[in-house]
Amino acid sequence: MNDTVKYVLDETRIPKFWYNLQADLPKPLPPVLHPGTGKPIGPDDLAPLFPMALIMQEVTTEREVEIPGPVRDVYRQWRPTPLYRARRLEKALQTPARIYYKYEGVSPAGSHKPNTAVAQAFYNKEAGVKRLITETGAGQWGSSLAFAGALFGLDVQVYMVRVSYDQKPYRRALMETYGARCIASPSNETQSGRAILAQRADHPGSLGIAISEAVEVAAQNDDAKYALGSVLNHVLLHQTVIGQESIAQMEMADDYPDVIVGCTGGGSNFAGIAFPFLGAALRGGQKIRIVAVEPAACPSLTRGTYAYDFGDTAHLTPLTKMHTLGSTFTPPGFHAGGLRYHGMAPLVSHLKELGLIEAIAYHQIGVFDAGVQFARAEGILPAPEANHAVKGAIDQALLCREEGVSRAILFNLCGHGHFDMQAYIDYFGGKLSDRGYDEKELAMALAGLPSVTEPA
Ligand SMILES: *Cc1c(COP(=O)(O)O)cnc(C)c1O
Repeated sequence: MNDTVKYVLDETRIPKFWYNLQADLPKPLPPVLHPGTGKPIGPDDLAPLFPMALIMQEVTTEREVEIPGPVRDVYRQWRPTPLYRARRLEKALQTPARIYYKYEGVSPAGSHKPNTAVAQAFYNKEAGVKRLITETGAGQWGSSLAFAGALFGLDVQVYMVRVSYDQKPYRRALMETYGARCIASPSNETQSGRAILAQRADHPGSLGIAISEAVEVAAQNDDAKYALGSVLNHVLLHQTVIGQESIAQMEMADDYPDVIVGCTGGGSNFAGIAFPFLGAALRGGQKIRIVAVEPAACPSLTRGTYAYDFGDTAHLTPLTKMHTLGSTFTPPGFHAGGLRYHGMAPLVSHLKELGLIEAIAYHQIGVFDAGVQFARAEGILPAPEANHAVKGAIDQALLCREEGVSRAILFNLCGHGHFDMQAYIDYFGGKLSDRGYDEKELAMALAGLPSVTEPA
């Protein structure tokens, strides 16, 4: 039995532009605000953290942003990525649905994250930057930036959330193999880290704390800049190569998605697959449903407040309007470390407010059930984060079975789980739990939201 159906583009089909959804939005994004003045910030306010080329990509409303030649050259190593029809999974589910998945796990770091890491390293190198400072949760972003830094001759320094640093030594080893320096966060190297350690010496860390440390170091050193792996407009922009390739591959399949599914931590892989299709719909093309899937233990889109908030715990970042659980919220431990962020990308949040996307939250055991079912049918072992998208797609396919209709479902398989086998061991050992977040802690974190509103 050979049911493998794979749509492959040759390398001349790597997109030449990133697609900018800001050009097609029915209503523009709310401005980013200065935390001191409450007034919109300008490009110069961000200059200590990012090179100007990336700052301009943050605010541009041009529809197409050209991908520099050297970035496309690096993309050629693994792009265009394959798109598969999941025939064996369809059979296993006995669904009339047509399930397709775009596979981003073929990159050197094993996820979609190098799509932006390579671009960010390129622009920083062009601007004369010597060092990139960043944070990482599970280690996917840290290893992607370490890879990109190695290619462009930049030093990379990664603040890794303490629990992951201790529990995920393999991702750390990968970063070090690429030449990066990896520091457990909270650390003694920064004021933000020392302040947290003074309160609690064995603090397990959080993405919000690690971001504070990285931003602090970048802001204080002229030769260093900060890099973020999700959330920001320019990061989502770089990921749109995923959706643009998918449009061409769905054409090869002579099909078009009725539903697109992606998992959301900060929103970048979801945006990558969905925005090019959404843009086409906003310009008068075929309408589609778009579903964002998030963990029930850190449900920013489904349970967060849409408000101005900080991106980090120490409140060093500007204020952006987004769905947030509050910058001091610490989600309970669960295995999809890449989805443990208190906020959601402003662009994705804006779409949710406009009713252009839907969101759903799942507990982790059902998510791993789905991932294992997928692996047994399709052979690819997804990252725990990607299992959320798998579960979302399977539920859509089961809905088709119930309703007796055939729809095309496209989801983003954003990474493989080869460095996450402990999560699978725990799942098979019956050690996963569906612990929710602490309602009291959420209420407290939300009560602490800064009291600024959108300027009229
Ligand atoms: C980082 C990561 C995520 C979460 O980040 P997004 O910006 O929401 O995509 C999801 N999946 C994988 C495999 C990741 O590495």
